[in-house]
Amino acid sequence: METKKDIKSMCLAELEEELKAGGHKAFRAGQIFQWIHEKLADSFEEMSNLSKDLRRQLEGRYWLVTLKKEDVKISKIDGTRKYLFGLSDGNVIESVLMRYKHGNSVCISSQVGCGMGCRFCASTLDGLKRNLEPSEMLDQVYRIQKDTGERVSHVVVMGSGEPLDNYDNLLRFIRLISHEKGLNISQRNITVSTCGIVPGIQRLAEEGVSVTLALSLHAPDDQVRRTLMPVAYKYALKDILPACHTYFKRTGRRLTFEYSLVKGVNDNLKEAQALARLLKGQQGHVNLIPVNPIKERDYVQSDRKAVEEFKGCLEKNGITVTVRREMGRDINGACGQLRRSFIEEKR
Ligand code: SAH
Repeated sequence: METKKDIKSMCLAELEEELKAGGHKAFRAGQIFQWIHEKLADSFEEMSNLSKDLRRQLEGRYWLVTLKKEDVKISKIDGTRKYLFGLSDGNVIESVLMRYKHGNSVCISSQVGCGMGCRFCASTLDGLKRNLEPSEMLDQVYRIQKDTGERVSHVVVMGSGEPLDNYDNLLRFIRLISHEKGLNISQRNITVSTCGIVPGIQRLAEEGVSVTLALSLHAPDDQVRRTLMPVAYKYALKDILPACHTYFKRTGRRLTFEYSLVKGVNDNLKEAQALARLLKGQQGHVNLIPVNPIKERDYVQSDRKAVEEFKGCLEKNGITVTVRREMGRDINGACGQLRRSFIEEKR
């Protein structure tokens, strides 16, 4: 096991402390920070404005986490790329690059696997393996920016894992990726998606970060929600929605309510009306996602007509709605499926 310290997960103040303790000038920390987080260096060797001696010392003391590109699938339709990255302990994770008119967006994983158990999701089938370190979240973005040579302007924490179940590492990730001496990605361009961990939402509201929060709602009431998301037994909508409203009041950021449409489960008009009632007075919009079927479950995607009617009903009730555009249809497979097929092949 690695005993060196994970330098990519350190904030600038910690790096300064480390350097001072090693008898070096504090300003070296800023240089090293920029090599790691702005120039995206893969080795200490590259840090050419540091002395050979300092580079050697860093090499001996710290570990510069870099993910290994195991596989990448590139869509011929829209250039979407699905990456499979290897971690130092042999685990693999998925990340996705989507190209939009407004810029390049990377969807990252926050955990290896997931413990939340949502019934339609492939990421959670084998449970939670472990949390990702801040460095492992950052390097998904860094690898992809280096691999494409194109700037990443948006990050969505919507891959495998529940980000608010890995709270401290998530927060460090947000601060590092939006740091002015790093990639400097605006917090407004970072979206964190949660299945509704109430204490996490409340904490994030007071943290002084201004990321966009997306809530995975998927049903207008706790009964239906529990059939899709076991976490709904732990947190009820009567507590989740006020926490979301507090998040809006504290940060001024409007929320996104994600709603995956599953045929015959949550997609009829009565549910659309109930959803409109539920969201009255909330600041945000609904993002409808026709469910992406996985072979381990028999959930079916709502048909086009049902999606349009559901959307129309919400709009009639004054709610802003978007239907998620399918990206990379030819390389599709729901969240977590590339990782699953890789693991199954190895077995
Ligand atoms: N744990 C977080 C983030 C990861 S999931 C969360 O629950 O929000 C990102 C989004 O994709 C969530 O809204 C999730 O419910 C949805 N999702 C997962 N699998 C899906 C599938 N097969 N079809 C449609 N949406 C899915």
